[in-house]
Amino acid sequence: MDFTENQIQRYARHILLNDVGGEGQARLMQSKVLVIGAGGLGSPVILYLAAAGIGTIGVIDDDVVDLSNLQRQIVHTTDAVGTAKVESARQTIKAINPEVNLVTHPHRITADNALELISSYDLVADGCDNFATRFLVNDACYFAKKPLVSAAILRFDGQLYTFRPNDTDAKGDPLPCYRCLFPKAPPPGQVPTCAEAGVLGALCGTMGSLQATEVIKELIGIGDSLAGSILIYEGLATEFQKIRVKADPNCPLCGSTPTITDLSSHDT
Ligand SMILES: [Zn+2]
Repeated sequence: MDFTENQIQRYARHILLNDVGGEGQARLMQSKVLVIGAGGLGSPVILYLAAAGIGTIGVIDDDVVDLSNLQRQIVHTTDAVGTAKVESARQTIKAINPEVNLVTHPHRITADNALELISSYDLVADGCDNFATRFLVNDACYFAKKPLVSAAILRFDGQLYTFRPNDTDAKGDPLPCYRCLFPKAPPPGQVPTCAEAGVLGALCGTMGSLQATEVIKELIGIGDSLAGSILIYEGLATEFQKIRVKADPNCPLCGSTPTITDLSSHDT
């Protein structure tokens, strides 16, 4: 792949990195990433992936920008209040890197559209804010055989995961999916949402930036994949913990006798 003079300048700090180089940058420029949600996590993910020159970024979100979003959803500006989040993201990304092909999906991800949508991308970055979507995206990525880099946030704390349940680790052991860790969604109301419990704006930046880093590692195939571990960040204690997690042979999705064989158990 030949870079233009402009591209060599724009991506110079990436090209300088031994693990990225021209080849890795070219890979990023040919990659297609779907970002679920243009909110607190999606904002830094979209911004850093666009700045990194990811060729195609799909953004799915059916919401409009609200004033209460701006404390953390940094892809949106005050002028964008009242406009669709995907359109607002498009405007910001155009200003940061006009080379990125930003594809907007101004609707919800559902059991009806998830497989087709996800199948046209190389990787999914989930920044959604509810368990129904989180489980749907996990299941759809498993069936579509796409890697999933996912983050979750609440108050001052965050978690980061990479799921590649269709692959094995270096020892040949199967890698877990989200349902290996959490077989089903907690009952409604048991875990508060950010809208109910609050979230520190800068925490979204911490977790979203980590998520963007893992996306780039997976796309280029460098470093140690986070798949097979979860990263837990406690903001008030300033502590990171990386915990090994294994695939569950009884997982209802990716286990040896699965009970979930399609997306029909999800609401459409
Ligand atoms: Zn599983």
